[in-house]
Parts: sequence; structure tokens; C-alpha cells
Amino acid sequence: MPVSPPAIVWFREDLRLADNPAIAAAIELGGPVVCVYVREAGLEGARPLGGASLWWLDKSLRAFSDSLEAIGGQLVLRTGKAGEVLPALVKETGAQAVFWNRRYGEPERSQDAAIKASLRGAGLRAESFNARLLMEPWELKTGAGGWYRVFTPFWRALQAAYAPAPALPAPSRLKSIKAESEALSGWGWHPTGPDWSAGLADMWTPGEAGARARLEEFLDGPINQYAENRNRPDEARSTSRLSPHLRFGEIGPAQIWRAVKDGIDAGRYDERNAMVFLSEIAWREFSNVLLHFNPDLARANYNPSFDQMPWRKDKNALTAWARGQTGYPMVDAGMRELWHTGWMHNRVRMIAASFLCKHLLLPWQAGEEWFWDTLVDADPAANAASWQWTAGSGADAAPYFRVFNPISQGSKFDVTGGYVRRWCPELSRLPDKFLHAPFEAPGNVLADAGIELGKTYPKPIVDHSAARERALDAYKQTRQEQGAE
Ligand code: FAD
Repeated sequence: MPVSPPAIVWFREDLRLADNPAIAAAIELGGPVVCVYVREAGLEGARPLGGASLWWLDKSLRAFSDSLEAIGGQLVLRTGKAGEVLPALVKETGAQAVFWNRRYGEPERSQDAAIKASLRGAGLRAESFNARLLMEPWELKTGAGGWYRVFTPFWRALQAAYAPAPALPAPSRLKSIKAESEALSGWGWHPTGPDWSAGLADMWTPGEAGARARLEEFLDGPINQYAENRNRPDEARSTSRLSPHLRFGEIGPAQIWRAVKDGIDAGRYDERNAMVFLSEIAWREFSNVLLHFNPDLARANYNPSFDQMPWRKDKNALTAWARGQTGYPMVDAGMRELWHTGWMHNRVRMIAASFLCKHLLLPWQAGEEWFWDTLVDADPAANAASWQWTAGSGADAAPYFRVFNPISQGSKFDVTGGYVRRWCPELSRLPDKFLHAPFEAPGNVLADAGIELGKTYPKPIVDHSAARERALDAYKQTRQEQGAE
């Protein structure tokens, strides 16, 4: 019987064995499988990952490499231009096929297309697959044949059109051949001098097993209260915390969809709550549609009328925001949670982001960049789309005149006060009544709680009502200049 030649699997944002079509295709050919991760250098226009993402990727690659070794495989690590590294590996191994799973941003897409054409031109089999989304961004079309710009009809159409393919099992053995590999530790992705990652390590277990455990934990209870609890940052298990695992493809949305739908059908999950959860997975899909059709989503206003917005330049205000020193406890708690854990609860992301764009009148791109650097789930589609949504410039966005009040949002959603008390411990002795507005507390209440405003906790860097008026005026001016009113 002829021996099948090796096949290469190029891993990128799909660091898992289960339900991974690229590795399944390679195994099906019957020859050895060469698994490679390329530290891409020189991809023009590509956005370097932030520090928190690199921390995650370092651990995720380590976990993935261990899983491959446990089944007889190897994760080959190489640095360079993918368009040069892959042909070199083809030559070294005698591979006849190269497979990978798709990414949806530019310039990655153009690069992939060029690599595919060149490998095929050299007589190889080169194929890409979808492991990252329920449906490809171009698959779901409106009645008029375009892409969806509004979420609710998108979600309706997705539910009607999507049928998950059967799950692909994780391989239990892998035929492989040895290839030279760089050492992950040599890539310097774990922070040193200083190592700021202790809080991240406490909270997360990057890798496929960690992703599976998170999903199981969430399905084992929290899913049934998701619709009510998902806005509760004071409830530790109110949401799934799957976002960084999804970001690096340690789990795919199809796996989540199947698990949830099976549970609904079997009567294990309350359908209403479970479908609200799946609708959030659909927001992730929608963000990817926006990114696919608007490659510059992280920089350019989706709604160009925001190009006229008179954003301020204020380095001190930006620093106070980033460090959680605005004097508004809900904003500060969120920004400190982000710094400490690499993650922030969705409700608080909205409050903190709105505060930056509206109260401080700073450009949303400045906040997007800070999140890009500090979030473990920093995602080219979801981060850009969500910032634009909050700023008002995005697709199907929150209207600009809806200015979140950080005080009432705090009282409403940090129901027990446990969230602010955890992340702003200097306020922990304040009575609930003043917890979200310490500047309104009488002197004796502050003194009893051991607080000296301006010393132990900052005074507000802007006055809520004045800042709100300033933001609305700026917006109105922009609209008037355009003759929109
Ligand atoms: P769950 O509530 O358990 O939701 C399940 C999954 O659905 C999430 O893991 C995520 O993949 C997806 N999801 C949920 N909400 C959204 C949403 N609004 N948009 C897109 N996908 C969503 N999410 C990211 O994954 N990466 C980002 O970089 C990111 N940046 C954001 C920036 C701002 C300003 C805001 C307001 C939101 C941002 N989000 C981002 C969306 C959302 O806050 C996170 O996905 C969510 O908090 C992750 O926690 P979870 O996994 O517990 O979510």
C-alpha cells in the first residue's frame, strides 16, 4: 500500500483538537500530520497583539503543545513571514497538503489568499475552513442581497439559517514526523520586569481543557439565570467568561451552540435564558460581519458623521481613566478589574467606555487601544464593534444622547455593592447609599469610613451633569454643522 505524504496544519486562532476541521482534514489524508504555529513577522498592516493577549497566547500554545505531544504529535514553532515559513516546511517534510482555519480581518485575509494561490500553483493541496464562526460573514444575506447592519434581523436570520455540522471528535492518536522547532520561552511573551500577570494567572486556565471546564461550569447552573444575572458584575458566575477561550479558538461557537441546544432539547436548560446566552454569541458573529465588510473598524468611524466630533485631547484624563482614578467608583472598579485580571464584566465595559467617550469626550479609539492592550479577550471584531457601539458611531449603535450615569448604573447593577467594594477596597466601609457617589457623602460619613477625598480616593475628575451637557452639546454641534437638524 502506498504511504501517504505528510500534511501540514497551520494553527492560528484555533488552538484546539476537538471540532477542528483543519486537523480533521489532515488526518483524513492518512499520512503524518505536521502542526505548525508561525510567529508572524512582517505582515504589513497587521496589528500586534497587546500584552495581556500575548500572556494568554503563551499559555495557550504551551497547553496545546502538551495536548499534541500526549497523542504523539508535535507543535512546531517558527518565526517569519508565513508565506516563506510554510513553503520551507513543505520542502523539509515533503508535505503535499496545507490546511488552516480562516481569520476574518485584513490583512490576514489577503495574505491567506496569496499563500493559498501560491501553494496551489506549486501543485499542493491548500484549503481553509471555518472553525471560528457559526456562519461565514458573507453567507447570511438580507432580502436585498447585502449584509446585515442591524442586529435583531441578523439574529432572526441566523436562527433560521444555521444548522451546525456534526461535531468532529478530537483525535486520540496522531501520526507525525519530527521537525525543528523554536522554543516558546524564547519568544518572550510572558511579562518580566515587572511580571504583572499574577492576577491573570489566578483567574484563568488558558487552553482547550480550561475552555471546556468553563463551559461545563456555566452550563451546570448559571445558564438558567443568565437573562437576569448577566448584568450583575457583583455575581462572580453571572456570565460564562468564555471570551478569551473563544478569542484564541480553544473552543468554537459551534461547540457551544450544540451543547446549549442539546440541553434545551433535553429539558436541562431554561429555553428563554439559554437563548439570551446564544444571542450574545450572535453578537460576536455580528461583530465579525461588521469587521469583514469594514476592515478599518478599529480606527474609522462606521458612521462618518462622527468624523466631525470635537473630541478633546487630555492625557491626564485618559491616564486617570485607565488607572481607575476617575472618582466614579463603578468606572474605577471596572478599570481596576481589567488591569488586575485582563477581563471586565460586559455591563461595566459599557459604563467605563461610555464614560471615556461622553463624560471625558475623548475619542473612542483611545479607549479601544487601552482595551486592546489589557484585555485577555481583546478581539479585532468585538472590541472595535463594541467601542463604536458605545460611542454611538457604530452599526446599530446606542444613540449618542444616551449617556450612562455611572452613579445610577452602579446602584442598579452592583446590587450588593460587592463589586465596588472588591475593586475599590478603600471605599469598602462606605454605606450603600453613598457607595457609588462618595463625593455626595457628608464629612462625618466619609470620616467614619476612613475616607479622605482627594487623598485616599480621588475627587471626581468631571462633574456628571456638566460633562453630560458638554457631550450633548458637542454632538449637537456636529449634527448642525452637517445640516442634519
Ligand atoms: P457572556 O455573557 O458569557 O457571553 C458569551 C460570549 O458571547 C462571550 O464570551 C463573547 O464571545 C460573546 N459576546 C458577549 N457579548 C458580546 C458583545 N457585546 N459583542 C460581541 N460578542 C459578545 N468581547 C470580546 O470578546 N472581546 C473584546 O475585545 C471585547 N471588547 C469590548 C469592548 C467594549 C467597550 C464592550 C462594551 C464590550 C466588549 N466585548 C468584547 C463584549 C463583551 O463585553 C464580552 O464579550 C463579554 O463581557 C465576555 O464575557 P463572557 O465571556 O462572560 O460573556
